[in-house]
Amino acid sequence: MRRVSILGATGSIGQNTLDLIRRAPGEFQVVALTGGHNIAQLAEDARQSRAEFAATAYPELLEDLQAALAGSGIQVAAGKAALIEAAQRPADWIMSAIVGVAGLAPGLAALEQGGTLALANKESLVTAGPLLLATAARHGARILPVDSEHSAIFQALIGEDRAAVERVIITASGGAFRDRPLGDLAHAGVAEASTHPNWDMGQRITIDSASMFNKALEVIEAKEFFALDPDQIEVLVHPQSTVHALVGFRDGALMAHVGPPDMRHAIGYALNWPDRRDLPVARLDLAAIGRLDFALPDPARYPALALAWQVMHVGGHAGAIFNAAKERALDHFIAGHIGFLEMSALVARTLDNGLRDAQTGEITLESVRRCDHLTRQQMDRLIAA
Ligand code: NAD
Ligand code: MG
Repeated sequence: MRRVSILGATGSIGQNTLDLIRRAPGEFQVVALTGGHNIAQLAEDARQSRAEFAATAYPELLEDLQAALAGSGIQVAAGKAALIEAAQRPADWIMSAIVGVAGLAPGLAALEQGGTLALANKESLVTAGPLLLATAARHGARILPVDSEHSAIFQALIGEDRAAVERVIITASGGAFRDRPLGDLAHAGVAEASTHPNWDMGQRITIDSASMFNKALEVIEAKEFFALDPDQIEVLVHPQSTVHALVGFRDGALMAHVGPPDMRHAIGYALNWPDRRDLPVARLDLAAIGRLDFALPDPARYPALALAWQVMHVGGHAGAIFNAAKERALDHFIAGHIGFLEMSALVARTLDNGLRDAQTGEITLESVRRCDHLTRQQMDRLIAA
């Protein structure tokens, strides 16, 4: 039996991962599950999957978790150190599906085991790509991408000579406001930004899809993971979310990955890698779909997207600054302090300020944390002003 752990088990990716594990009885031993505020879900999943260890990120919820798992024999813990402990429990395959930069330290701890890290947490590549890859290399660990676009690129590259890659095209659905009159965007609310036309995901990534901050993160993620030049990466709006990414080769060929918008494909691919096995995802009926549309993203609608290239050209800690500014702006949007379009405007300003004195030194967990902290403070000051 393969030993598996899920960091961020109670979220959208975590639940889809558990669904696939449940469908393969006898194949996986669940080692550790982590969650946040949803103690009932965490406890239910820990019991159902017979996990060895369950941890919540929040120390104040330890008693609730203890009570919910009383008599189960499952060990429980809480707080940041507990997340690290979950990542360090011996496992062959670990899903990194915490949302935000909070997933970085547990992901690094998981890599130190030298097994396989299925990486949904794009923020760890954006904030600390070189550190993540070096940690994997040092410990002989493997990172498999779980973001659907990156899984698609990974699959399109199988058997190919990396030197023959000319470009990579990442698709974007266009999010909740793709067809909204531009003049209405400033007043777009949290609830409407939290609905996605094609994908069912956590709230934060769903809002980031409407603003295309998510696509900006994914562009940087692709650069880091596949060692691309910034100008080799393109983004196309593709409303059907059926072609997830394409890889263009020097002979002009494009290899596209086509599949239903269901994260269980990318998760299942990483779970079964290097094999392909049956997955409970819909089979596409291309005749019923009829057409696939592609268009260039409108910079006026998605001002966040271009920031990715600014970040990539500066390098160093620019990704950590960008991500922290984005996370904090999103907090303020969700709290109702700022409008939808203010997010990208404020992140652009914070990025400009931050890049002037961005640390150029080596990227370490500590340096990323420092950057993250300072940037959040800057963002708060900007909003309070
Ligand atoms: P989610 O909000 O549904 O779940 C997030 C998980 O992280 C939960 O288990 C939550 O308890 C935990 N968490 C939240 N804050 C935490 C903190 N501070 N410390 C520790 N744990 C914390 O998010 P999601 O949509 O499942 O996304 C998870 C990650 O996967 C993100 O990085 C996201 O960008 C990426 N991703 C998600 C999808 C998707 O379909 N949902 C697709 C591609 C990539
Ligand atoms: Mg994606």
